[in-house]
Amino acid sequence: MEKVKPSSNVQSRRTFLQQSASLMAAFTIPNVFQSKKKKKMTTEKFDVIIIGGSYSGLAAGMGLGRALRKVLIIDSGRPANRYTPHSHNFLTHDGRTPAEIAAIAKEQVDAYKTVKRITGLVVHATRYENDFHVSLANGTEYSAIKLIFATGIIDQWPDIRGFSECWGKSVLHCPYCHGYEVRDAQTGILGNGDYAFEFAGLISNWTRQLTVYTNGPSTLSSEQNARLKKHNISVIEDRIDFLRHSNGYLDGISFMNGNSVNVNPLYARPPFKQSSEVPESLGCELTEDGYLKIDAMHHTTVPGVYACGDNVTRMRTVANAISMGTSAAIALNKDFVLESF
Ligand SMILES: Cc1cc2nc3c(=O)[nH]c(=O)nc-3n(C[C@H](O)[C@H](O)[C@H](O)COP(=O)(O)OP(=O)(O)OC[C@H]3O[C@@H](n4cnc5c(N)ncnc54)[C@H](O)[C@@H]3O)c2cc1C
Repeated sequence: MEKVKPSSNVQSRRTFLQQSASLMAAFTIPNVFQSKKKKKMTTEKFDVIIIGGSYSGLAAGMGLGRALRKVLIIDSGRPANRYTPHSHNFLTHDGRTPAEIAAIAKEQVDAYKTVKRITGLVVHATRYENDFHVSLANGTEYSAIKLIFATGIIDQWPDIRGFSECWGKSVLHCPYCHGYEVRDAQTGILGNGDYAFEFAGLISNWTRQLTVYTNGPSTLSSEQNARLKKHNISVIEDRIDFLRHSNGYLDGISFMNGNSVNVNPLYARPPFKQSSEVPESLGCELTEDGYLKIDAMHHTTVPGVYACGDNVTRMRTVANAISMGTSAAIALNKDFVLESF
């Protein structure tokens, strides 16, 4: 079986599909496995392997399972919102813990015999002419005709003592998820320049008691400073020493110069990276912002590879991740139908 290198992305999607078409009939019969040379390959071959089995991956799994595809979901158990005690703004589950929502989702997905769900970390994937081989950290391998990455992103916290403990509890990334609960509170924004200015404008919707902490010299323009001043938003440039908190609930900020302020919550949007490097190793391109590049039908830039959820969008909510998982499943199933009908 010929291995397809990432550099062969230039091969057009149409050519790839034409090459695949003659073998497609074999692949659409469940439980038919065409043995490969690799030693640890399991005997199971799937229509689709979904890498990442949190909200988006589970939604994709349900959609494909209901479309009678043979699906394997592999998840390493580290959803982005595991730090937050309550998840908001997801209709029917508002205020539940993230784990509760995930548990219900898993129970419902597990009801489908077409879907298998395992715990594991995918460390490698190889694209062959007609399928993909996926390797787990424990050495197990699986194969499937198509892959979905629902792997999420990793927030890269700043090196500020107390930040990680408060993340998701009182250091917040999103007012739509948590702003209602802390409306009108004495609120801070950790950030600088354009990003802090835009964030301040957004958060001013939830509170008028707002201060921007730039943690060093401000890079806000004079026009931005004037607009902030007009809305009574002050800017503090002192370097932050640490965040004062009890069990992750913020009391205030202590600065290197000995000053301190009382503030709770603090909004911050740290930079992020993709949770998994496997899509890139397959040749999937990223956008300028660092998301996996997809088209409207969830195709990445590598034929047969799809993506959904936090790894493709800045619209970072459970509801959106689930919506994208569902639409990725529909898009992928449509491709199967078009390729075999
Ligand atoms: C602190 C915080 C609080 C939040 N609060 C809210 C809220 O209140 N309301 C709301 O709607 N949204 C909230 N969000 C956003 C929400 O958590 C995300 O939008 C949602 O989790 C995205 O779902 P996902 O399935 O795309 O990714 P994730 O939930 O991040 O899941 C990705 C999954 O992929 C797995 N994975 C990654 N790489 C691999 C690999 N190589 N092999 C196997 N598995 C892998 C991970 O272990 C993880 O389980 C919050 C986010 C954060 C960071």
